[in-house]
Amino acid sequence: MEKKLLSIVVPIFNEENNILPLYHELIAICQSLQHFDEYEIVMVNDGSKDASLSILKDLAAHDVHIKIISFARNFGHEQATFAGIMHTKGDAVVLIDADRQDPPELILEFEKEFINGYHVVYGQRTKRLNESWLKKLTSYLFYPIFKWLTGVDMPRNVGDFCMISRKVVELLKQFNERVIFVRGLIYWLGLPKKAVPFVRRARGSGRSKYNYTKLVIFALENIVSFSTVPIYAIIFISLFLIMLCCLGTAAALCMHLYGYVVMTGWTSLIICMLFSFATTLFFLGIIGLYIGKVFQEVKGRPLFIIDELINI
Ligand code: UDP
Ligand code: MG
Repeated sequence: MEKKLLSIVVPIFNEENNILPLYHELIAICQSLQHFDEYEIVMVNDGSKDASLSILKDLAAHDVHIKIISFARNFGHEQATFAGIMHTKGDAVVLIDADRQDPPELILEFEKEFINGYHVVYGQRTKRLNESWLKKLTSYLFYPIFKWLTGVDMPRNVGDFCMISRKVVELLKQFNERVIFVRGLIYWLGLPKKAVPFVRRARGSGRSKYNYTKLVIFALENIVSFSTVPIYAIIFISLFLIMLCCLGTAAALCMHLYGYVVMTGWTSLIICMLFSFATTLFFLGIIGLYIGKVFQEVKGRPLFIIDELINI
């Protein structure tokens, strides 16, 4: 029987104090896997400036399960995760952060659901220890807004901690985009998914690499990269303003005819200004639509994702 391989991808940026404890936890878990006979751990060093790389090299020298991808500089969490996924060989791939916020023992729960046929098994945070209320609030708001604007059914309170099937990995290889939002793409595919609840631990050591400015940029970039709804919003706002101008003009004409003039010229001036603003906005929206189309064409995402083919 063919041996089953599990790949684990760990993005790492300045995590010198977390690597060894995480490694020991992961090894213990990998040795108690039921469905998988072999494992590999792909550590992606995202331009760390501390001792992370030398610790990784030491590990790799003693353990063939450890594979290292080391970036020339810091390219970002998403890029590191994507690079790791692209270099895996496993029948399933686990994504886990290096900071020990994601409990490795959950991988055994992921394995059970994976055997049940789910392509994406994800950890859903029921509680987040040691995170500020602002971070909790921003992530609470991000998921519904993202879902509403993009139509992608990305579950709430979910990070990158998940297990994906080889099929998902092969599909991700078809994506050509430069702005990579791994989680967004995984849920964009729409393949069967299953949540496994867990309590997110506090960071093992060090600080989060995401400050609030980075988080806002991250949210905006990803929404824009997945959705043209904001362009339609511009068009709808401009149409609403144009309608308001027409009503205003009609009202001003009636007032003029019945002699209710408060200040000569004021109403017509305001209506003209609002009208030219609204039409400019409308034309901008139309240009935006063309840019949106170019954007979608350039990304060249697959037109559809097939879950099953029956009698074909
Ligand atoms: N990370 C990375 N490159 C970066 C920032 C972060 O590879 O530029 C890694 C980091 O080492 C950790 C994971 O991505 O393993 C998540 O980062 P972090 O804990 O800072 O994010 P948070 O959990 O606060 O969202
Ligand atoms: Mg973290």
